[in-house]
Parts: sequence; structure tokens; C-alpha cells
Amino acid sequence: MIILLKSNPDPEQLDSLTSWLESKDIQIHTSAGVSKTILGLVGDTTVLDIDLIAALDIVEDVKRIQEPYKNANRKFHPSDTVISVGNTQIGGGNLTIMAGPCSVESEEQLVTIAKAVKASGATMLRGGAFKPRSSPYAFQGLKEEGLRLLTLAKEATGLPVVSEIMEASQLALFDDVDVLQVGARNMQNFDLLKVLGKQDKPVLIKRGLSSTYEEWLMSAEYVMASGNERVILCERGIRTFETYTRNVLDITAAPVLKKLSHLPVIIDPSHASGKWDLVGDSAMAAVAAGADGLLIEVHNNPEKALCDGPQSLKMDTFEELAKKLIALHGFLATLKGEIA
Ligand code: PEP
Ligand code: MN
Repeated sequence: MIILLKSNPDPEQLDSLTSWLESKDIQIHTSAGVSKTILGLVGDTTVLDIDLIAALDIVEDVKRIQEPYKNANRKFHPSDTVISVGNTQIGGGNLTIMAGPCSVESEEQLVTIAKAVKASGATMLRGGAFKPRSSPYAFQGLKEEGLRLLTLAKEATGLPVVSEIMEASQLALFDDVDVLQVGARNMQNFDLLKVLGKQDKPVLIKRGLSSTYEEWLMSAEYVMASGNERVILCERGIRTFETYTRNVLDITAAPVLKKLSHLPVIIDPSHASGKWDLVGDSAMAAVAAGADGLLIEVHNNPEKALCDGPQSLKMDTFEELAKKLIALHGFLATLKGEIA
């Protein structure tokens, strides 16, 4: 349920409304807009008399929210959520470019790539230390050593770091990681999501291989309901009948999620396409579709990469693409301003 308050509500009346709601075990999430404030209510709202609340002097409107996701719902929080990480901001009209190798392989590899993507305009370094691989015989990541190398690359470039956490017991190792990635295969690992909800680093949730928007938003809801509102959604392609590409990039994820939710939306064209020569156009389409950013795999030697070489951009290709992405984002912002 949401309660839309009239502007400048009487503080005493607001106090008595919130104390009464809390006495009914309802949690209140306040979203203060420029002129209007919304109270988002979570809990058993069936015990509340909607007409009684609507009749209060300070209340303009009351609505029940049908969707099962509440905290993640745009109706709860009409303005975009903006997440600050280091000096960079994710969401709210900013273009976030997360780039780096699929897997951290060595200090030289990681620092070379980190410096190159930073110089090209990336705002965050993305690299995997713990890798969820389809085959138990495939390279599983450098693990703790990979995280140590990510710290070195962060120190060398000043870029905040995104890396995948596969289970809750690894959390203590992720002290220097700025954004915790939950992989597609773990999107519905509810115990992991609950643990990540109880810590305060932003959580980037990749869409499950065959997950609906609602299931994905419910995963975000798990993190948010546990107390952490800093959630980023990442579309990485879904399973369909098509086999030419690794997955199918669902470009509508950007406009749909921006409509349903206030959370930032990132698109990963690398895992979606699985082919490096499709990454650039898919990334441009993602920006045009309104995504808040991109996650792009980049390698200094894709032919020799230990993981996801075929979809990794070479550093010079990434440099050209980043220029185009930044220009397109700027052009779209101007267009919006001109039309408005
Ligand atoms: C990755 O980001 O390297 C990865 C394993 O992605 P996903 O979980 O989307 O398959
Ligand atoms: Mn990968």
C-alpha cells in the first residue's frame, strides 16, 4: 500500500499516523519527492482500513499495490534510485561502464586491462575471482588470489571494483570489492540474497537464465526486504530456441524495468551475445533503450583467455566502442532536453 501525503503535512498528524502504522507492525519507507511525499507500507496491510486513512487531513490518496514486489516498485519510490560507489554514480541519467576480463588471471593481465579500460572511459572494473562454470573441469577462478589482484588493480587505477560472490561464506573475503555481483545461476539463491541484504555494499543481480521480470524483481526484493536498498539489475540475455547467439539479449528489459522499478538497469551484451563482434551494436542498442549502463568483457589477449574469450573485446575495440557509447548517451540527453 502507498499513502500519498499532501504537501507540507502537519508534523504532529504525520507522527501520529506513522506511530499508529508501526503499532500495527507495518514498516514505512518514506520517499520524499520535490513537492509530494509517499509513504510505502510493507507488512500485512489487509488489517488497515483504506477509507479511514484516505479521510485524514494530511492524506491526498491511498492505493493498494498489487505487485508482490514493494520496495523495488516504482510506485513506492517514483524517482530513480542513484547509487554512489567511490566517485561514480549509478542510475539517474549517468552512464556506468563496467568493464574488465571475465576472470582475473594474473596481475599483469588484470592491471593492463584495468588501466586500458579506465583510459577509455570505463567507470568501474569488473573481474571474476570466483567463477561459476558449467563444467567442473573448467577454470574455476583464482579465488582469494583473484580478489587480492582486484585490490591491486583498484589501487593502480582508482576504479571501483565489481566481482561475483557465489556463497554467503565468501563475504568476509570481499572487503575491498565495491559492488557484489550475484550471477545468473544464483539469482534465486534466496539465502545468499538475504545475507547480501544484511550488509551495505551495493548488489548487482544478474537475470536468471529463464527468469521473468517478476521473479527477478522478487530477487531484488529479497535483498531490499533484508535492509539493503542498493540493488542494481543486470540483463545478460535469456534462454530461447535461438542457438546462434549464446543467449538472447532482451533489450526490452531496460524500458520494462525502468517502468516497473526505480532501480538502475545495466545491460551485459557480452554474455547475451557470446560473440565479440555482436557486442558493440548490442551495447549501443542498450544505451538507446535507456539502460543506465553496461557490463562489457574486455581482454588483452582474448584468444588465450581462460574464460569467455570469444565474447571478449580487445582493448582497442573497447576504446572505440566506449567513445561511441559516451557520445550516444550525450546525444540522447541533448535530444531529451530539446524535446522536453
Ligand atoms: C559473468 O559475469 O562472468 C558471468 C558468469 O555471468 P552470468 O552469471 O550472467 O552467466
Ligand atoms: Mn564471463
